[in-house]
Amino acid sequence: MALAQIGVTGLAVMGRNLARNFARNGFTVAVHNRSAQKMHSLIEDHGDEGTFIGSESLEEFVASLETPRKVVVMVQAGGPTDAVIDALVPLLDQGDIIVDAGNALYTDTMRREKDLASKGLHFVGSGVSGGEEGALLGPSIMPGGPAESYVTLGPILEKIAAKAEDGTPCCVHIGPDGAGHFVKMVHNGIEYADMQLIGEAYDLLRQGLDLEPAEIADIFAEWNQGDLESFLIEITAEVLRQTDARTGKALVDVIKDEAGQKGTGRWTVKSGLDLGVPITGIAEATFARAISSQVAQRQAARGVLAGDAQEFAFESRDAFIEDVRLALYASKVVAYAQGFDQIRAASDEYDWDIALGDMAKIWREGCIIRARFLDRITEAFERDAALSSLLVDPYFVDEVAGSVAAWRRVVAQSALTGVPAPAFASSLAYYDSLRAERLPAALIQGQRDFFGAHTYKRVDAEGTFHTLWSGDRSEVEA
Ligand code: NAP
Repeated sequence: MALAQIGVTGLAVMGRNLARNFARNGFTVAVHNRSAQKMHSLIEDHGDEGTFIGSESLEEFVASLETPRKVVVMVQAGGPTDAVIDALVPLLDQGDIIVDAGNALYTDTMRREKDLASKGLHFVGSGVSGGEEGALLGPSIMPGGPAESYVTLGPILEKIAAKAEDGTPCCVHIGPDGAGHFVKMVHNGIEYADMQLIGEAYDLLRQGLDLEPAEIADIFAEWNQGDLESFLIEITAEVLRQTDARTGKALVDVIKDEAGQKGTGRWTVKSGLDLGVPITGIAEATFARAISSQVAQRQAARGVLAGDAQEFAFESRDAFIEDVRLALYASKVVAYAQGFDQIRAASDEYDWDIALGDMAKIWREGCIIRARFLDRITEAFERDAALSSLLVDPYFVDEVAGSVAAWRRVVAQSALTGVPAPAFASSLAYYDSLRAERLPAALIQGQRDFFGAHTYKRVDAEGTFHTLWSGDRSEVEA
């Protein structure tokens, strides 16, 4: 029998669909799962979609692959991924490629890559976005690892990846070692921010205009025809329109308001802190999920903490809807600008040499944050690959300029009415901080110098200075 060009081990929802995607694209695919039943059911249910070679043991699985072997590992992140890699290594030869397509923490990927490189193996940590459906129909793929592995692996991944409108595959070699998983992590962080911003827009519209979810679904569906067109806006309309079969109420009204998280938002925020990059939109979104899950605290505070809130005040229903749309758009630009800043900072820190424009390109289809907006980001980085912030690209300067008054009105309404919009508010504060002539950081430097002799720099002279606070308060050069 002919050998397989690619193998997939781990055939839960993601691995199964990825294997089917390879097969549907004409590749012979070796398939394996720890418990053989998943492998058999894949071949029974979908064997007619292409050529699969099923194996019950890892040894047979590896033997069914052509060299250099390309093994995609699609199992639970963490310990299970290490267990599968450890079992694979003795069976592989120099030059073979292991692709970890799970949601690994990028530092784990860096460790694994180093370890496997010392054994002569290529390790490719690859982000795969788009959920189950994306895995089957074409995900956005973010492979890291050694560039030479991309020569043989790249064409296979590009074949099964989503394609942008212009035909470009949503897959590119991101950079060495953990670059792929890092970028996938930030992608998920941006997804958190995007979802939170949409949630805040919904809440303000609902409470401000006293609308039913289905009416707000219509607003989102309309927004999806314009600049905000995206997968997340589209599914928001669908979710809001859904009626609960049991109660006849809107489904959103019977779902508990406690948002879950699997950890990639948290990882993104921790990395932002480590790199010193203010990813305030992603952080607020992650914390907003955490607050929603503080059930006991919310219970204790409800009805006890004073609101002293005002009624919503706006010119007209349509004017308020437009203000919320513009606030959402502007806040979204901030979230993406911050996410790209974080990728740039990591790329500099780890010498990954990531082309930021390529990230926008491969997120245009196949992934959860796919959006019309990403074409504009792609164009921004095409205009200037070294753009210091997405916010200063001429296109986005104009777009946000046209939104900023509405953004302020919406954040003010949120504060006055007591309807929380933490991501809208912090995004606006970030924007104002960037554009500020002077920040109160000067005072903070003074305080730091006072209690800790941490020194400061002057606006009118070179050097580092310290005031003798506990002495005669004269200034000395440090
Ligand atoms: P999952 O529930 O995360 O993992 C289940 C798979 O892992 C099963 O095949 C299971 O084998 C295998 N496994 C667990 N422990 C193992 C071990 N010690 N040794 C060998 N195999 C082991 O599956 P998933 O939802 O398909 O996700 C797979 C990966 O893709 C994860 O890293 C996930 O984070 C990532 N991902 C998921 C999505 C999504 O939408 N679900 C999207 C993007 C990325 P058995 O059947 O034998 O238990």
